[in-house]
Amino acid sequence: MTLLQLFKSVAPYARPYKWLVVAALALTLVGSITAQVNAYVLQFTVNSIAQLLEDQKQLSEGLFIIAIITAILLGKEALSILITFGQKSFGEKIRIFVSRDLAQQVIERVLTYRLAFFSEDDSGSGKLQARIDQGVSSLTRTIQSFFIEIFPLFASAIVALIGMLNANIYVGLVALCIVPVYFFISLQQAKRLKGWRREIRSNRENRSGGIINILESITVIKSFNREDIEAKKQQDLQIALTETQMKTRSTNFKYDGLKTFIEQFGVVVIIILTAYLVLTGQMQIGAIMLHILLFNNVTAPIRQLHRIYGEVNDALIYAEGFFDILNAEEQVEQSGEYRPEKISGKFELRGVDFTYPNGTQALFNIDMTIQPDRITALVGLSGAGKSTLINLLDKFYEPDGGEILLDGVPLHDFDTHYLRENIGLVLQKNHIFSGTIAENILYGKPDASYEEMVDAARQAYIHDEIMKHAQGYESSALALSGGQQQRIAIARLFLKKPPIIFLDEPTASLDAVATEQIKNSLDAIKKGRTVIMVSHSISQYVDAEMIYVLKEGRVVEHGTHEDAYRQGGTYKEIFDAAARSLNVEKINNTISEGGGASASGADPRR
Ligand code: ADP
Repeated sequence: MTLLQLFKSVAPYARPYKWLVVAALALTLVGSITAQVNAYVLQFTVNSIAQLLEDQKQLSEGLFIIAIITAILLGKEALSILITFGQKSFGEKIRIFVSRDLAQQVIERVLTYRLAFFSEDDSGSGKLQARIDQGVSSLTRTIQSFFIEIFPLFASAIVALIGMLNANIYVGLVALCIVPVYFFISLQQAKRLKGWRREIRSNRENRSGGIINILESITVIKSFNREDIEAKKQQDLQIALTETQMKTRSTNFKYDGLKTFIEQFGVVVIIILTAYLVLTGQMQIGAIMLHILLFNNVTAPIRQLHRIYGEVNDALIYAEGFFDILNAEEQVEQSGEYRPEKISGKFELRGVDFTYPNGTQALFNIDMTIQPDRITALVGLSGAGKSTLINLLDKFYEPDGGEILLDGVPLHDFDTHYLRENIGLVLQKNHIFSGTIAENILYGKPDASYEEMVDAARQAYIHDEIMKHAQGYESSALALSGGQQQRIAIARLFLKKPPIIFLDEPTASLDAVATEQIKNSLDAIKKGRTVIMVSHSISQYVDAEMIYVLKEGRVVEHGTHEDAYRQGGTYKEIFDAAARSLNVEKINNTISEGGGASASGADPRR
């Protein structure tokens, strides 16, 4: 990204505050002129005093001059304070407003991106967070420093240079010759630093990603006593980061030394030249003060240039990553416009292929018909592609071959929001947001009444348990057990009442009692809807009206339980293994001896 592109990208965010920008720039202009006052006043002072000495005047006769000088310097200082204050406060305001808008905008954008964006390697949550945070802070820091540092310094340098050229063309030319050399060296410095800055950025991202990984898997790390391995991984990242930082520092020291030398060289040349002009009577002695102070103003921004350059470079690098996220037009979820009165829920898949963004092909030539008002089960070993299929039906991903029709219309043409309003998804682990139980259930339908919410909770067999908490629906949802959280997710579904329901192993991580309760609540919601269910539990899929068996991304068998079993292939293998693992014989014996298991359909609402 170039500086110009950066400006273009940021400009729309600064536009609403254009009056602040104009005010800051106007102050900059005034400030760049007042910055030269000292140089001229000192020239005047030295010349006047020299004149007084030459005319052998009394001290009292100089008082008038001293009074004028004092008044000008103090007046100018007071003005400078006001200008600096104005610049800082306008610059700060612009920074705060723009940073707020950028941060909000990026969140709003990311929320519109398709799921594929989040499963890309570069978009791990830690990395994304780091890129956004660094992008916003570095961009806004740069905007601020443009207004309170870069513009004022450069404007003052230009005015000072004009002053020098005006005072004496040769003196001006010396400054004009030194500046490009100085500039060139700063450029070299900046280029050397640029690659390392990128390295530092990626090291920092990895480090913060690493810490998040540790926090997420702390139990596993501890149970395997692998603290030292994790510490070593972090240490390697730290070392890599430190090494790059040290290289950056040493490069800076070398270049800074060289630049100081060149600047001093310029000062010396100007002193010699001015002394010559004074001695040959072409100028008064005060010119030395004037030239050196003006030269000082000319070099001031370049003295800061490597730092400014660094900051701008940082901003360019971070901005690139940031605007890549913000302007990832191709990542915006596609939506058609089709919004039928009613969705009945017949899915037809014809020759569907799908490959994940990382290149894993998960589905091959899938042909499938999912009938409305029926329960269709997807059965297969782990990794067979069942969840992927559900992701496609929910339009989280688009197939890269073949087509998916819903009620005879390509899924692609459906309005995505409308489609998802009509689909209820229950996953193995449903996300519970921090907040109250009520807020979490209402996520299914934010405008539902209290009665509707309680009714949904009853249908999901969770109402009584919620009421056991002291604060009822106002208790924290995070305090619920896994099984209870799962039923909160189902209550959301009852509230939403979608015609199509996808159940992706909703009971896989639950204990037997919770599984039974959830099975009951799901049985209640399944009626009259299109249900697609992924499950490893025999009890859940044997009753399905249609079973599709997937193996390594392909449909290998389909039919009712009996049909599929009779084919003697993958389904039989899976079913037999599941039945064996249940130890049916022993279960039978136990139950017939103890007379149990009949209460399985008990209604917990009683
Ligand atoms: P199942 O639900 O049957 O266990 P999945 O649909 O989750 O299987 O996975 C099918 C294949 O796709 C597997 O090889 C898996 O590794 C791969 N896969 C799943 N999710 C992703 C993803 N987000 N990115 C890349 N590959 C994935």
